[in-house]
Amino acid sequence: MPTASFAQLPNAQPTADIIRKDILANPGFGRYFSDHMAHIRWTLDADWHGHEVRPYGPLTLDPAAAVLHYGQEIFEGIKAYRHADGSVWTFRPEKNAERFRRSARRLALPELSDEDFIGSLKALLAQDHEWVPTPSSEADECSLYLRPFMIASETFLGVRPSHEVDYYVIASPAAAYFKGGVEPVSIWLSSNYKRAAAGGTGFAKCGGNYAASLAAQKEAEAHGCGQVAFLDAAENKWIEELGGMNLFFVFKDGRIVTPKLTGTILEGVTRDSVLTLARDAGLQPEERHISIDEWREGAASGEITEVFACGTAAVITPVGELVGEDERIRCQPSDNPVAKQIRRTLLDLQYGRAEDTHGWLTRLV
Ligand SMILES: *Cc1c(COP(=O)(O)O)cnc(C)c1O
Repeated sequence: MPTASFAQLPNAQPTADIIRKDILANPGFGRYFSDHMAHIRWTLDADWHGHEVRPYGPLTLDPAAAVLHYGQEIFEGIKAYRHADGSVWTFRPEKNAERFRRSARRLALPELSDEDFIGSLKALLAQDHEWVPTPSSEADECSLYLRPFMIASETFLGVRPSHEVDYYVIASPAAAYFKGGVEPVSIWLSSNYKRAAAGGTGFAKCGGNYAASLAAQKEAEAHGCGQVAFLDAAENKWIEELGGMNLFFVFKDGRIVTPKLTGTILEGVTRDSVLTLARDAGLQPEERHISIDEWREGAASGEITEVFACGTAAVITPVGELVGEDERIRCQPSDNPVAKQIRRTLLDLQYGRAEDTHGWLTRLV
């Protein structure tokens, strides 16, 4: 398939250098956006067309646009990293492109090719590369967070897949997701809410899953926790994942276990990378069911030495404790050496400080 070229429509009023530099010095997460956005339109008759990079700004949507009523929407999250020589790279974008197509099929949205997905990131970065922050040290985990998303934009209140769809990529400079860095986080075990059920949308990265997780998130915050762990909907027994991160359990004997993908868990690119890096490090990765009882008992006996969560936004974050209605599950005190080592290896790869032996990096600029 030929790579479509993106028309470049430069922003006539880009952010002043001095303001952008100020933003990049302290970007937080998801608060500021670059000067442009990539866009591709899809219609039932004309397929994907109109590739462009245009000034960042509000969308014009008819109040009857399908996405506003039935939530036909999917998204991705991927980062651009600046290397020491000034070049800009992203991590395993073909995995995100593939997942975006899986999400699209589940939400009855049109599928976007690798060429268009990766091409849109390159086209946006061609304009906005100055928005990729430069790390001040190896501990500085700054990046440009890229958010591709697709919405049903047809003006129609009937319930059927939209005949008009828009795909965009926006970009937001980011510092480390959790201000504490690798400080262990407390996780709330939701007993009132489920994230996904068999046959549902758990494996798709869609806004609806997040909308459905917010009540549990509020509950977590009320109990002093930043994130929610969800159990399976059928048996209320098997650990699935957090609202936006996958989970790993490190065992004393070198096994490292993550819940098996059964359609209700989001297949994280970080999860997949950790499985490979763990094997490289001489650990024995296992994808299998793991129950809340195994977590409780393994933490108490010392069999499980570390628990960590992983995802693009927050990389790898140790889980300090799991808080339930009437219990707290904690591993024996640990400095989380395995989580820290894998985290360091992953970041070294992403920032170009280690050799890319798995061919995981794609140059954007
Ligand atoms: C995005 C996401 C993850 C992490 O996926 P990565 O590809 O590693 O960023 C995990 N769980 C859920 C529910 C997600 O939406």
